[in-house]
Amino acid sequence: AAWEKVEAKEERIMVSVRVRPLNGRESGDSSDWECISPTTVMFRSTVPDRAMFPTAYTYDRVFGPNCSTRQVYEEGAKEVALSVVSGINSSIFAYGQTSSGKTYTMTGITEYSVMDIYDYIEKHPEREFMLKFSAIEIYNEAVRDLLSHDTTPLRLLDDPEKGTTVEKLTEETLRDKDHLRDLLGMCEAQREIGETALNEASSRSHQILRLTIESSVKQYLGRGKSSTLVSCVNFVDLAGSERASQTASAGMRLKEGSHINRSLLTLGKVVRQLSKGRNGHIPYRDSKLTRILQSSLGGNARTAIVCTMSPAHTHIEQSRNTLLFATCAK
Ligand code: ADP
Ligand code: MG
Repeated sequence: AAWEKVEAKEERIMVSVRVRPLNGRESGDSSDWECISPTTVMFRSTVPDRAMFPTAYTYDRVFGPNCSTRQVYEEGAKEVALSVVSGINSSIFAYGQTSSGKTYTMTGITEYSVMDIYDYIEKHPEREFMLKFSAIEIYNEAVRDLLSHDTTPLRLLDDPEKGTTVEKLTEETLRDKDHLRDLLGMCEAQREIGETALNEASSRSHQILRLTIESSVKQYLGRGKSSTLVSCVNFVDLAGSERASQTASAGMRLKEGSHINRSLLTLGKVVRQLSKGRNGHIPYRDSKLTRILQSSLGGNARTAIVCTMSPAHTHIEQSRNTLLFATCAK
């Protein structure tokens, strides 16, 4: 019965915030942020002449500079990631300004999820599992296959049954954990190639790693043909949020079309709509990112967003924008 397709509860989006430690370049800087409870981060200005009141921000979970990625995974992402083994689609996002720790956090979350998913499979020998993996990057609304050396942008297709799919996308059937580890390494390398070719690419591109799981009861157990469950989990390392907020706040750069990150802005709109209760029009179709993720956002799907931020005083504006996004997503 555990394997019946489970109707997800009307869950809100799980939103957490991770404040990373000060890094070498910020060592002379002060921090205005203090995690005062497992769910609340407090702003308290360290600059005395600034008459700013302390402000508390509360989310599902807040992780301070001493928290490990293991802890962020366990408390902020695991439940959502593992819903894939029950036939529920899910997405986990890292959102934040460049160098706030998105990639650091998402890489760890992906690795821990993969370990737990394989662990689950080993504990359920009565079922047959097939795992598939694909990886894309979206840069300036162009979709690139990270498992192929061909950098030609891929088209999106609307399939009446599967929803939006990416044409000609490589989908590897996984032999085992090591195979997946190799593929993750390849994605990382491919992403780095992109970065040298295109300046600032990593701060402007989104990466989506998708693990699809098909499972059914093994035939020798009889009882005729069992239904197959198909679902996927998406690990999404978003483009730096600084551009979206600059554009949105000042109305500047509006002429520079390519600088506006359409996917990031649309994701923000979609998330806000979903968090308000999923009524009315949700603009999935306005960007590549949200089109590709539509079946893994809203509806029956589960979503977790980990918002990452620097503790440094220098980054105060961006950190506040990140917390504003996190608040709207709740
Ligand atoms: P982003 O992907 O948001 O641009 P990165 O994940 O690349 O940021 O992080 C920037 C730098 O900070 C990297 O060198 C990374 O290793 C380091 N870093 C990020 N988060 C943490 C953390 N929680 N603890 C220690 N180092 C971190
Ligand atoms: Mg990064």
